Amino acid sequence: MTEERLRILAIGAHPDDADIKAGGTAAQWCARGHVVKLVSLTNGQAGHHTMPGPQLAQRRRAEAQASAATIGATYEVLDHPDGQLDDRLEYRHELIRLIRAFRPDLVLAHRSTDYHPDHRFAGLLVQDASYLVTVPAVCPESPHLTRSPVIMYFSDAFKKPCRFEPHVVVDIGDVFDRLVGMLHCHQSQFYEWLPYNAGQADQVPAGDDARRRWLGERMRRRIRPLADRHRDQVVRTYGPERGPLVRYIEAFEVSEYGAPLDAAARARLFPFLPAGAALGGAFVRKEWVDIPEED
Ligand SMILES: [Zn+2]
Repeated sequence: MTEERLRILAIGAHPDDADIKAGGTAAQWCARGHVVKLVSLTNGQAGHHTMPGPQLAQRRRAEAQASAATIGATYEVLDHPDGQLDDRLEYRHELIRLIRAFRPDLVLAHRSTDYHPDHRFAGLLVQDASYLVTVPAVCPESPHLTRSPVIMYFSDAFKKPCRFEPHVVVDIGDVFDRLVGMLHCHQSQFYEWLPYNAGQADQVPAGDDARRRWLGERMRRRIRPLADRHRDQVVRTYGPERGPLVRYIEAFEVSEYGAPLDAAARARLFPFLPAGAALGGAFVRKEWVDIPEED
């Protein structure tokens, strides 16, 4: 492997969010020997209809770690109560220390517009940390970074106040089963809580193989629309022959608060993308640190 070893940090609110939103891409980084760490900012203790919180939190930590292990990543689940995340300074500082300690080349996180308050606050906490990781006087006990990493958002379908607009799309068709293998580890969620919450508990089959097939079909139905929604970008990335045929993607939008993502940075951070593909909606400079030019 001649590529440098990248360090990727995927931060979700719950102990399955990073897997759901970036598991297929994470599998591709891991397969190339890059270092991937998934993080959950809460302990997931609210994600069940019968299991008591402390017991569930313990179970979900184990599920998350099993999920990461299937692709050779690691998972850190913080112990903050699920359903109660907010933007308190203590959480921001904890996240600043976590990011500094890991020294990521790329951070992935929720946008701060989302149906779930934990997702929103997780996105906000990452945004709040994005510049401060470089400021030595903030959390002075932890060595600061000399520059912010590239920060990108997980995809979502929310339209207000603004739509998700991907700068990078990744074909995950070849690793789709690996993604399902990760999610299959989250038994408490995909076979218990989420079907219950959706009024579909009676649809969950019995038996490991049947469940995995059932989950695979559900996830294919769920992820399939994403490639069509961003088809122009998929075709720009994979070209006129392969682009229209790509069925399953993960997509990421650059945050304005991290390092810019130019074509070279994209090629470095996403080495499995076709070389020379156009960078859709290129975001190449940090407008907000530049002094505006006078007319
Ligand atoms: Zn979540």
